[in-house]
Amino acid sequence: MLLFVFFAILVWYGCFQGRRRVGGIAALAGGMFVLLMVNAVHFRVAQIFGYEHLVPVFRVLLYPYIALVGGIGLFMVTLPIDLPRGEIHCKACRYDLTDLKQEVLEGDPCPECGATIAEASTRKGRRLARKRRHARSKLAPEPMIGLQLSSAPNESDEAAEDQDEHRQAADEDPLDRSAAGGVHGLDDRQRGCIA
Ligand SMILES: [Zn+2]
Repeated sequence: MLLFVFFAILVWYGCFQGRRRVGGIAALAGGMFVLLMVNAVHFRVAQIFGYEHLVPVFRVLLYPYIALVGGIGLFMVTLPIDLPRGEIHCKACRYDLTDLKQEVLEGDPCPECGATIAEASTRKGRRLARKRRHARSKLAPEPMIGLQLSSAPNESDEAAEDQDEHRQAADEDPLDRSAAGGVHGLDDRQRGCIA
């Protein structure tokens, strides 16, 4: 019985994760297919063991269950994708470009997937950018993943504090900004080494 609860949650999770995409619809269709198969197979089993007359009792529960899983799954699939907060984001990979707004509007590519605004505005360009990003992450796995698992929350907070400090210092001494750049450059290299 618990299996039915887990199965429903699994289907809904898949629908939610892949909402407004092919993946979510596939999760919903797959979930429905499995349940209808269970129904059909169960009927065959009942025929073999000679308890068909009890199958309707089971179906009284199963059919509402299928409707429930399907209905909520459908709801999950149609939920809007919440985009990262910010004025502007990459249309191809949804990377938040708010800090890079000026550069991107002038035609710079997205740092995450390399798509320019012109490229990301067409379906073909978005697909290309996504493919490029996948190819890149296969060649060189995200160096941040390991850090995110171990110490990312603290690190990002520290980095933000660091930046604030540097910003304040830069107001007083313009030379300090280049030093800050140096430190961040080293940070990136260290990240590479860890990865
Ligand atoms: Zn992008």
